[in-house]
Amino acid sequence: SRKNLIAGNWKMNNTVAEAVVLAQEISNRIERDWLELVDVAVCPPYVDLKPVKSVFEFDRVDIAVGAQNVYWEPKGAFTGEISIAMIDNIGCTYCIVGHSERRNLFGETNEDVNLKARALVEADITPIICVGESLSVRDAGTYLDFVTAQVRAAYAGMDEADAAKTVIAYEPVWAIGTGRTATPEQAEEVCAAIRATASELFGAEVAEGLRVLYGGSMNEGNAALLLGEADIDGGLIGGAALKADSFIQIVKEAC
Ligand code: 13P
Repeated sequence: SRKNLIAGNWKMNNTVAEAVVLAQEISNRIERDWLELVDVAVCPPYVDLKPVKSVFEFDRVDIAVGAQNVYWEPKGAFTGEISIAMIDNIGCTYCIVGHSERRNLFGETNEDVNLKARALVEADITPIICVGESLSVRDAGTYLDFVTAQVRAAYAGMDEADAAKTVIAYEPVWAIGTGRTATPEQAEEVCAAIRATASELFGAEVAEGLRVLYGGSMNEGNAALLLGEADIDGGLIGGAALKADSFIQIVKEAC
């Protein structure tokens, strides 16, 4: 009953010129009737957001655009930051929050993630809240506790209505950009635990409606099996989202 969401995280790739070409390729080749069955979004760098959104608007194709990060303060002396009003104004309907690269390379904390997610929900932009364990946590066997603690921290201070407006992405750090994808069973175990945590916090109805994505070396070859799992409701795609053919094939698998 949950509609799959396939979101491309372009990370720090593509100038405006390159981004427009990729957006046009995606728009040209995606079958319009797939978009009835699956939600699709791309998350380019900030400077590419408006040009990419313009391509999709011009083509009247129902592909959403999201940012990869945002700051929670409404405005002011925060050099280098981008506000929610700014991404809202150019048509973003999603925003990735707490990607492991932001947590590990740029020092984002669970508290930052919570502030960002809450501010986005308040503005009716869907946060795609990223969680996931490192290889050492996986090997230590404590990954379910680790990931569900990240989920609880991200949801601190939210009520049922707030939580219903979020998406969670489970991205094991050891599977990101490594070509080493989680097996469908490994991904399903954690995605089911995430849903159980949402059920504890917000009740069964919210949990049943919550979309939980998998991310980490997902590609056109492994998407079908991952998406076949009961608690995996889509994908957050990195490398394979930079190639129109691969991304579109994953979208097709998600229909
Ligand atoms: P890859 O698909 O390149 O492993 O990246 C996954 C990811 O981090 C998406 O946010």
